[in-house]
Amino acid sequence: MSLVELKHVTKNYQMGEMSVRALKNIEIEIDEQSFVSFVGPSGSGKTTLLNLIGCLDKPSSGEVFVNGKQVNNFSNKESALFRGQHLGFIFQNFNLLPVLSAYENVEYPLIMVQNIPAKKRKERIMHYLEAVGMADQKDKYPSQLSGGQKQRVAVSRALVTDPKLVLADEPTANLDHVSAFKVIELMRQMQHDFKTTFIFSTHDPKIVKEAEIIYTLEDGEIVDKEIATL
Ligand code: ADP
Ligand code: MG
Repeated sequence: MSLVELKHVTKNYQMGEMSVRALKNIEIEIDEQSFVSFVGPSGSGKTTLLNLIGCLDKPSSGEVFVNGKQVNNFSNKESALFRGQHLGFIFQNFNLLPVLSAYENVEYPLIMVQNIPAKKRKERIMHYLEAVGMADQKDKYPSQLSGGQKQRVAVSRALVTDPKLVLADEPTANLDHVSAFKVIELMRQMQHDFKTTFIFSTHDPKIVKEAEIIYTLEDGEIVDKEIATL
């Protein structure tokens, strides 16, 4: 069974009188433990697509299945619960809370969505901070970290709840090339170590080469699917 499946998905945004067709007849199947990229120019529909898979938005028509559940009919409450239990998110702007340390940022989703005893929680946070090489920086605040380091903390935060699927919307867009490659490499390592599926979007053709499966989007349509030969 696929981890993610989209059937005949369309998405229109209503802007006053005008309707913007952001996605047209999307058909996707993504297996567990894969490393997938959505690539395409700005406005091609990458964020819209990730938001539908991430239960952050609903399609205008069609069906979305994630982890065996049809998620497009979920209520807002059901979506929030599902996100907390099964999904992790990484953002272009890192989205770390500035008043929390690296450690506390990683702790945050555990407190929000999972009731774990304090000792277990601490072990878990340190395990994931170590996995991304940020354990020794745990008491630093986001303003004291470089972009690459912030994104490492964000990767750790996305993984700490042990999600099936991590969605990363242009995770390297605000990083220099060296840091960008390091973050993708790190996600790849995490996919391998924790058996997590990753889907990331990018408009950078160099970064996209690191993916196993590449979907190319243009004007809301998938115009190419490429499977990397290893
Ligand atoms: P990408 O992430 O590839 O840049 P998006 O998914 O953000 O593309 O956007 C796809 C299309 O949908 C674009 O034409 C964009 O202008 C439009 N769009 C995205 N979000 C909204 C919104 N909230 N309201 C209206 N139009 C939107
Ligand atoms: Mg986008």
